[in-house]
Amino acid sequence: MNKRTVEQFALFGGESAFASFRTTMNLVLPDRDVFFRYAKASFDARHMTDHGPAAQELEKQLAEFHDVRHCVTFCNCFTGMFLALHHLARPGKTEVVMPSLTYRRMADIVDWAGLLPHFCDVDAKTLGVTPAVVEPCLNENTALILAPQPITHLCDIRGLETLAAKYDLPLFFDSVEACGGVSQGKTIGGFGDGESFSMHPSKVLNSCEGGYITTNKDEFASTLRKARAFGLGDAGRVELLGCNARLNELHAAMGLATLAGIEQQFADNQRVHLAYQRHLADLPGVTVISYDRNERRNWKSLLLRLDDAWPFGREETLRILNAENIHARAHYSPAQHTTFPRQAATGALPVTDAAAKNHLILPFGSTVSEADTEIVGSLFRAVLDLQKPLRARLS
Ligand SMILES: *Cc1c(COP(=O)(O)O)cnc(C)c1O
Repeated sequence: MNKRTVEQFALFGGESAFASFRTTMNLVLPDRDVFFRYAKASFDARHMTDHGPAAQELEKQLAEFHDVRHCVTFCNCFTGMFLALHHLARPGKTEVVMPSLTYRRMADIVDWAGLLPHFCDVDAKTLGVTPAVVEPCLNENTALILAPQPITHLCDIRGLETLAAKYDLPLFFDSVEACGGVSQGKTIGGFGDGESFSMHPSKVLNSCEGGYITTNKDEFASTLRKARAFGLGDAGRVELLGCNARLNELHAAMGLATLAGIEQQFADNQRVHLAYQRHLADLPGVTVISYDRNERRNWKSLLLRLDDAWPFGREETLRILNAENIHARAHYSPAQHTTFPRQAATGALPVTDAAAKNHLILPFGSTVSEADTEIVGSLFRAVLDLQKPLRARLS
């Protein structure tokens, strides 16, 4: 139903545009028969965890999927990442150069690794890091460079690899958002010293909980395998700092089942994404940040920028949308340099400050159909048409 009066907006007592919520979380369910088949095999073998048959098969398939030598699975991406960063960091050095505008728990991951975030700005076009923003932050305390792939775009992968080589620093990519993508013909997963991926249900690959790290470095892979199992080496002696971070068999079975349907998921994502783009076109001050159509992408999110030409600020827009059961949310906000207590001295981050205020993520994934994108589009148009009375009611 198109809203023609302010009273028809759910925020002011009207009926919600959606009877049930639409969320930014992917929440994709795989083919249950594939899940049960893998789960049954591990169950019958009485193998519950500790790198059983399902986890081994998942690592093998993921290494192929990412075209990389090693895949090391973990109970979640967060734990895998702090173990990876801890062991990758230059010994005796303390600072991790990383953007402030990224996954909001990223600074905690660095903190758990025993390191200090040194926040840098991002590139205005990609919202990812480039050598130009990273290089000024490098100093004698730098332990490594952490480059998260932004949503929709990719960061300057080759430029960062060249920079890391120039300063002889480790380079780690958080590639959760770029899973399944390709950069200049090479699959995401084989860059830098390693790359991390999450299998939380909100991401493209759902294993209920889980994560993994890909790398072409044999020694790093071996360190990660020990670190996820208490740091124990082959002889059963503790060799390095680790914890219990293994992926259990049921979660691995779930990951295998989702991986089996991943190509279909990417195709569906692209269809819904392009439908969103059509329905949100020509709205003043509203820009959909699109994916690159020339190479493979997962198309898993709908990132939007609101500029001054749009009549409402981001928080107001979110209030209106959320009341309609459109669970849109602020994108990577607040930026971490404004909130994280333990950080290295940070310079001005103008692009980050601006981007943290005017980007939002619209619902996307298994709760959102192509038809839903039209309803969201009409709602934006109703907001525009009724901006004067809406403004009066909001203030
Ligand atoms: C979700 C996410 C993580 C953490 O993944 P978990 O598996 O939930 O621990 C790390 N980085 C990015 C960019 C993420 O979106």
